[in-house]
Amino acid sequence: MFGFSIQKLLFTVAIVLIVWYGFKIIGRLDKKRKAQIKAHRRQRGSSSRVAQPTTEDMVACVVCGTFVTSRGTKSCGREGCPYPG
Ligand SMILES: [Zn+2]
Repeated sequence: MFGFSIQKLLFTVAIVLIVWYGFKIIGRLDKKRKAQIKAHRRQRGSSSRVAQPTTEDMVACVVCGTFVTSRGTKSCGREGCPYPG
Protein backbone atom coordinates (compact mmCIF):
# COMPACT_ATOMS: atom_id res chain seq x y z
CA MET A 1 0.00 0.00 0.00
CA PHE A 2 2.84 2.33 0.88
CA GLY A 3 4.81 1.40 -2.23
CA PHE A 4 1.77 1.91 -4.42
CA SER A 5 1.19 5.30 -2.88
CA ILE A 6 4.83 6.32 -3.59
CA GLN A 7 4.39 5.24 -7.22
CA LYS A 8 1.18 7.17 -7.41
CA LEU A 9 2.87 10.21 -5.89
CA LEU A 10 5.82 9.95 -8.29
CA PHE A 11 3.45 9.56 -11.20
CA THR A 12 1.49 12.60 -10.10
CA VAL A 13 4.70 14.63 -9.67
CA ALA A 14 5.88 13.49 -13.12
CA ILE A 15 2.57 14.55 -14.70
CA VAL A 16 2.71 17.91 -12.92
CA LEU A 17 6.30 18.45 -14.06
CA ILE A 18 5.44 17.49 -17.66
CA VAL A 19 2.46 19.86 -17.68
CA TRP A 20 4.51 22.61 -16.01
CA TYR A 21 7.37 22.27 -18.49
CA GLY A 22 4.87 22.03 -21.32
CA PHE A 23 3.29 25.34 -20.34
CA LYS A 24 6.73 26.86 -19.88
CA ILE A 25 7.77 25.83 -23.39
CA ILE A 26 4.44 26.96 -24.87
CA GLY A 27 4.77 30.28 -23.06
CA ARG A 28 8.29 30.78 -24.36
CA LEU A 29 7.21 29.93 -27.93
CA ASP A 30 4.20 32.23 -27.63
CA LYS A 31 6.41 35.06 -26.37
CA LYS A 32 8.79 34.51 -29.29
CA ARG A 33 5.90 34.43 -31.76
CA LYS A 34 4.39 37.61 -30.33
CA ALA A 35 7.76 39.37 -30.53
CA GLN A 36 8.10 38.29 -34.16
CA ILE A 37 4.60 39.56 -34.97
CA LYS A 38 5.39 42.84 -33.23
CA ALA A 39 8.65 43.24 -35.19
CA HIS A 40 6.89 42.30 -38.40
CA ARG A 41 4.12 44.81 -37.77
CA ARG A 42 6.65 47.53 -36.96
CA GLN A 43 8.48 46.82 -40.22
CA ARG A 44 5.30 46.75 -42.27
CA GLY A 45 3.95 49.86 -40.59
CA SER A 46 7.02 51.93 -41.29
CA SER A 47 7.29 50.76 -44.90
CA SER A 48 3.61 51.36 -45.65
CA ARG A 49 3.89 54.84 -44.15
CA VAL A 50 6.66 55.59 -46.63
CA ALA A 51 4.92 53.95 -49.58
CA GLN A 52 1.48 55.47 -49.23
CA PRO A 53 0.99 58.42 -46.93
CA THR A 54 -2.44 58.52 -45.36
CA THR A 55 -2.32 62.23 -44.64
CA GLU A 56 -3.54 64.71 -47.22
CA ASP A 57 -2.29 68.19 -47.80
CA MET A 58 -4.57 70.79 -46.33
CA VAL A 59 -5.00 74.05 -48.17
CA ALA A 60 -6.77 77.14 -46.98
CA CYS A 61 -9.49 78.70 -49.08
CA VAL A 62 -8.43 82.26 -49.91
CA VAL A 63 -11.99 83.53 -49.52
CA CYS A 64 -13.41 81.74 -46.50
CA GLY A 65 -10.13 80.67 -44.91
CA THR A 66 -11.40 77.17 -44.28
CA PHE A 67 -8.76 74.46 -44.42
CA VAL A 68 -9.79 71.81 -46.89
CA THR A 69 -8.08 68.83 -48.50
CA SER A 70 -6.44 69.62 -51.83
CA ARG A 71 -8.19 66.63 -53.38
CA GLY A 72 -11.93 66.57 -53.92
CA THR A 73 -12.44 70.03 -52.53
CA LYS A 74 -15.89 71.56 -52.66
CA SER A 75 -16.69 75.22 -52.78
CA CYS A 76 -17.78 76.88 -49.60
CA GLY A 77 -20.46 78.70 -51.64
CA ARG A 78 -19.07 82.18 -51.15
CA GLU A 79 -18.29 84.46 -54.05
CA GLY A 80 -14.76 84.12 -55.41
CA CYS A 81 -14.10 80.71 -53.87
CA PRO A 82 -11.44 79.06 -56.04
CA TYR A 83 -12.92 75.61 -55.68
CA PRO A 84 -15.65 74.24 -57.96
CA GLY A 85 -19.05 74.10 -56.36
ZN1 LIG B 1 -14.13 78.92 -49.88
